[in-house]
Order: sequence, then C-alpha cells, then structure tokens
Amino acid sequence: MTLHSDVIVPYLHEFGNAAQKAKWLPKCASGELVTAIAMTEPSTGSDLAALRTTARREGDEYVLDGAKTFISNGTLCDLCIVAAKTGGEDPHRSISLFVVEADRPGFVKGKKLAKMGMASQDTSELFFEDCRIPASNLLGQEGLGFFMLMRKLAQERLVVGVAAQAGAAQVVADTVRYCKEREAFGRPIAKFQNTQFELVDCATEVEVGQAFLDRLLVDHVAGKHLVKECSMSKLWHSEMLGRVVDRCLQLFGGYGYMLEYPVTRAYMDARVQRIYAGTSEIMKVIIAKQMGL
Ligand SMILES: Cc1cc2nc3c(=O)[nH]c(=O)nc-3n(C[C@H](O)[C@H](O)[C@H](O)COP(=O)(O)OP(=O)(O)OC[C@H]3O[C@@H](n4cnc5c(N)ncnc54)[C@H](O)[C@@H]3O)c2cc1C
Repeated sequence: MTLHSDVIVPYLHEFGNAAQKAKWLPKCASGELVTAIAMTEPSTGSDLAALRTTARREGDEYVLDGAKTFISNGTLCDLCIVAAKTGGEDPHRSISLFVVEADRPGFVKGKKLAKMGMASQDTSELFFEDCRIPASNLLGQEGLGFFMLMRKLAQERLVVGVAAQAGAAQVVADTVRYCKEREAFGRPIAKFQNTQFELVDCATEVEVGQAFLDRLLVDHVAGKHLVKECSMSKLWHSEMLGRVVDRCLQLFGGYGYMLEYPVTRAYMDARVQRIYAGTSEIMKVIIAKQMGL
C-alpha cells in the first residue's frame, strides 16, 4: 500500500502529462490499478546509472529489452514504471522512465521470490523481451529518468524512515506488555534491572527518532529540498529499528524465535529496511556528498 500510494503513484502525479494522469490516476486511486517500480537488475542495484535494460525508439513505439529483479508488487502489478537506457554518452542522462502495462506482449513476470520477511508483499523478477509500448508511455522527458528517480527517492526514503519508526514503537510497546506478564524467578521479568535498562534504551531511541521524523515531515510537506535529511532518516531509523527489534526479541527468550510471535515477524521484516530504497552504505555516500565531503 505505501509503495503504491506514497512512492510510485507520485511519479505519475508529478511527471505524467494530462493524458497520462487522466488515463491512470483515477484507477490508481480506486485500487483497480496496482503499481510497481522497476529499477534494480540482477547485475546492478546500488549503482543505478549502470543499469542495462534498454528502450529503443521505433516509429511511434519504444521496444524494451532487459531483466529486473527484487521488484515489490512485481507479481500483482498492473502498471510498472521501468527505468531503461535510451542512449547517450553521459550515464546520468541516458536513463528514461516508461509506464508499462502488465498485459503488453513481451512483459513477462518471473517467479515470486522467497524472502526472509515481508510475507504480505510480493517481490518478483520481471523480464522485457522485445516489449513494445507506445511512445506516449514515456514518463517525463527522455534522458531525464535518473534525475526523476533522485527527486522521488527522497520521499521513498522518508517513507522507509516512517515505517521503521512505527515498527520500533510497536515492538517496544509489545515488549513492555510481555515483560510485565512473563515471570521468572518468581517475579515479572520487567522487575529485573537488565530488562528495565534494555527497555529504557529502546524507548529512548524511539522518542528521539520521533522528534527528528516530526521535524522532517513538517519540512517535507512544506516542499523543502531534503535529500540529506531524508537519507539520514532512512539510515538512522532503519538501523535504529534493527537495534531495537533485536534487543526486544532477546527479552522474549525462546518465544522470540517462534514464528507465531509478532516480535519474530518484526525481526524478520526489519532486516530489509537497511537494504532496500538504497542500502545504509549508499545513504552514507549520499550524506557525505551532501556535506560537501
Ligand atoms: C524485499 C525487497 C524489495 C525491493 N523492492 C524493490 C523495488 O520495488 N524496485 C526496485 O527497483 N528495487 C527493489 N529492491 C532492490 C533494492 O533496492 C536493492 O537490493 C538495493 O538497492 C541494493 O542493491 P543490490 O541488491 O544490487 O546490492 P549491491 O548494489 O550489489 O550492493 C551489495 C553491497 O555493496 C555495498 N555497496 C555498493 N556500492 C557501494 C558503495 N559505493 N560504497 C559502499 N558500499 C557499497 C552495498 O551497500 C551492499 O552492502 C528490493 C529489494 C528487496 C530485498
């Protein structure tokens, strides 16, 4: 849901022309169209400019060839925004974005990938084999895809920050409740000083994280350019979630390893937050650049 509403549909909203918006946005809003965005390829993820999928112009059409992987909503999608090379010397000016409808011949959905967590979200391989789309499915201007992605990735990273913050807050609340109920050595485990110190550390991280996120959300909604801060949020909040969920899981003892417990699922779901939408390392590269280093 958040990927569709907060990440992908905003591309159509900001970069789509009037005809594209009229054609797709109402059905995106009603849920008749589910969207995906395909940047990552088997040979490249972090280095977007190195992608290999191509789109060549033939008359009134573009012909797409290439493979994508790890695409969220890949199995379910009706519309997929595809990043492809349209030529040119400068790698940053050779990428364009295309809207590809799922029923276009040559758009082949590969297998749904088996993942560690995020069970309710499908992640797939996608293939484009001489896939013809009308030239009118080009989103924005040819050659400006990389800049459009950079512009929109800030919000995507903020969305991950929000999800990580919410996930951490939830897991702390669940763990406090559990520690008050679970007994060892004749008293609730919440009465052990170690349990208290662990929960205090986690709750403090959540409070601090909320303050940064609140400020960021106000500035983002006001339209401020926040590449550095959104990358910082993606980095810090996803790492914070990892720390918090791991410490909380420990307090569940053996139950924390059992799939029926929400903390176990939270632990498995959390791991990917440091990887997708740009890894923690790539966030540091971006932040360093923004700091003029
Ligand atoms: C569940 C899931 C859902 C996803 N959904 C989507 C989606 O919907 N659409 C989409 O396009 N992609 C999606 N992805 C892909 C995701 O964005 C990439 O996996 C991620 O950006 C990393 O790329 P990679 O896997 O190719 O790793 P690589 O780029 O191969 O990186 C491997 C390691 O090298 C490090 N590294 C790379 N470059 C540098 C550098 N310059 N400095 C320091 N370290 C570096 C990385 O941080 C990482 O630790 C998804 C991935 C997952 C797991």
